[in-house]
This record gives sequence, structure tokens and C-alpha cells, in this order.
Amino acid sequence: MTTFSDLGLEALILRALEKMQYKEPSPVQAMAIPLILEGRDLIALAETGSGKTAACAIPVCHRIRIDDNNIQALIVVPTRELALQYATETQKIGGIKGVKAFALYGGESAGMQQSKLKAGVHVLIATPGRLIDFIYSRSIDLSNVETLILDEADEMLSMGFYDDLEFIIQCLVHKHQTLLFSATMPVQIRKIAGQHMREPKEITLTRGQASPKSLEHKFVFCHSHDRDKKLIALIKEIEPSHALIFCKSRIEVEDLCRLLQKHYDKVDFLHAGLSQDIRNIVTNKFRNGRITCLVATDVAARGLDFSKVTHVIMHHLSKDPEDYVHRSGRAGRAERVGTSIAFVTPRDLPTLNRILQTIAREPIWIGEPPPPTTSTPRPPQRRRPYRRTP
Ligand code: ADP
Ligand code: MG
Repeated sequence: MTTFSDLGLEALILRALEKMQYKEPSPVQAMAIPLILEGRDLIALAETGSGKTAACAIPVCHRIRIDDNNIQALIVVPTRELALQYATETQKIGGIKGVKAFALYGGESAGMQQSKLKAGVHVLIATPGRLIDFIYSRSIDLSNVETLILDEADEMLSMGFYDDLEFIIQCLVHKHQTLLFSATMPVQIRKIAGQHMREPKEITLTRGQASPKSLEHKFVFCHSHDRDKKLIALIKEIEPSHALIFCKSRIEVEDLCRLLQKHYDKVDFLHAGLSQDIRNIVTNKFRNGRITCLVATDVAARGLDFSKVTHVIMHHLSKDPEDYVHRSGRAGRAERVGTSIAFVTPRDLPTLNRILQTIAREPIWIGEPPPPTTSTPRPPQRRRPYRRTP
């Protein structure tokens, strides 16, 4: 068994890890940290909740020279929430050593962000949009970046950030190390890797099943008209202490939240139409248990570590099995037990089959399973076009 001190990390980092009660490296950390320390390019595929943030933040903090006030590591992430979370984790790991991490994202005053950068930042975590604004207005110096990290790369691509990522990568003209973290590996990632990485080392810890073992997959068969009634009954039955409920659109999120608030306390919602302040407040309230049911769009689906989430409930099933894996992956993190429950209508059954293949599981039905039907041939499902607004 590898320990953190076997990895040759400096004492101040080891002390921070001890304080965080990270007793031993997770598998992805044990594999990735030595490669990152060597300066290799790396593609790491690992299931959600496996500790990819620290796999990256630990070696990055180890290598930062604190007397050099330039940005030495740049981490690009898909959402503001994830940027904040990444910055917090980096600050915890590197703070004792004096590493300064900062999250740069849209929706906050650019002036304030500029003065923060001027004051000195070693590790910058940014969303693509605001980062590009800063590059255009020449408010940022990336010429000392030694490590570029693309986190949740598959999600950034499915949000339509391909050109933005290309642009950001092309702005880093000098020699640097590139690390790519993702739960899945669509072809566009292969393309980026092929064009911009130097003999990347690949580590895969998903074994074709991007869903942790500690996660139970359950399903509720329903018709569109009784979906909400069944959801209310379900929540009454399971009394979740920390449930994340996914809906398709902002309007559905708000409608469902209002409906649930009639039956339960401590229900709130999260989507990208809210101001950043409100999003931060809601995220924190959910983390510390003052909200027990959070109704959300996919903004909350990727990367965010709500480490206490016990139940993920999908009010609607997405057509894309990868979305299912990511949404369900909000529960059962870091080998805790979690349950994912998805509502399935007769029309969703073909989608369900593809999901079950992806996660390699048998369905567990809550209540009546769907009646055995004579299957009618359906036209092949076309993938929905990219760029979605969560
Ligand atoms: P991923 O990015 O792979 O989805 P995260 O980096 O968000 O996963 O980590 C998931 C959870 O595991 C977080 O709550 C984190 O604090 C915890 N964690 C990460 N590494 C360790 C470790 N070595 N020991 C204990 N907990 C860890
Ligand atoms: Mg992550």
C-alpha cells in the first residue's frame, strides 16, 4: 500500500493532508501523483468521487515555488461552483506551505478579480469564458504556466467549449505539462490529446463502468401524469437526509421545487439563472444540511462534491447514458453508500436499456416494474446536438 509520504511529498503538504484526514492516497492519486511529479502529460479517466481533484492539486502544490508570484498552474473547469470547490481544496492542501489559489469565473466583478491577480496567485482555477475575457483584455499573464489542467474535460466539451479550450491551449506557447481529467472519453478528447499533448500517459480506473460499486441504482416506473405524485410519495417513504433531484430545465426545477415545498421543509433549488451570490448560498446550505432536498439542473451535476449526498433522484431520464452516470455519481462518493433513483416512463425504456448496459447493472425497481411489452422497432436515436445551457 502506497502512503502519501512514499510519494516523496514535502512535509508541509503531508501535514495538510493529515489535517484533512486523508490517510492514504486513493487509487487514482497513487497512480497519478508520481507521473505528475515527473512532469509527464497525463490523461486520467476515473469514476466520479475517486479523488481526482486532490490527485492533481497535491503534486501541483508540491511543485509551486511560493517566492515566485506568477501563475504557475492553470486549471480550467466547466462551472463556477467547481472552480470554487477546486480552489478551496487546493487552498487546504497548499495553504500551510503558502500556496495562493484563486477561482476566476463570470458573474463577479472583473476589477476585483484583476486586483486579486495582481496581488499574486500561484494556482488559478478558471471557467473558460471569463478566462478568455481576461486573455483578450490582457489582464492576465499566462507565460509562466508550467502545468495546464483540464478538469471534467468531457463536460466542457459537451457544453460547447471545444473552440474555447483550443484557444486557451494555443495561448500557452511555451513548454508546459498538460493534464486531462475526465470520467468518460469522447472522441473530441482524443483529438485534443492527439494535437496538444506530448506522449501522454493514460490511466484508466473506470473498467468500463464509470459508476462506483457503493452506488445502488433504482428505478421507479411511472407515467408522465403520475410522476410528481410518485415522487412526493417516494420522498415521504425514504426520508432522504441529503437528496439531489435533477430536472431538465430551469422552469421544471422551479415548478418542482414549489410543489415539494408544499409538502416538505428544507427544499430549495439551484440553476444557472440564479445570481452567483445566491448560487453560493444555496450550495453552502445544502453542504451543511440546512437544505435536505435540492432540486437542480445539470449545473449541479458535474464535478461538484456534495460529499454527503445520500440520494440522487432523476425526475426525468436523460437520453445520454453519460449524463446518467454523472448525475448518479453525485451520490456514493468516496466509497460512501448512495442510492440513485430515476423515474422511467414507457417512452424511456429504450434509453434505460442503454443506461443499464453502460453501468453494467440489473435494474432494481421500486414499486411495480414496467409490464413486459412487445417491443416495437424504433428509429435509431440521434444524438442531441451539442451546446446545452444547463
Ligand atoms: P472526483 O473529482 O474524482 O469526482 P473529488 O476530487 O471531488 O472526486 O473527491 C471526492 C471526495 O473524496 C471529496 O470529498 C474528497 O475530499 C474526498 N477525498 C479525496 N481524496 C481523498 C483521500 N485520499 N482520502 C480521503 N478522502 C479523500
Ligand atoms: Mg472532479
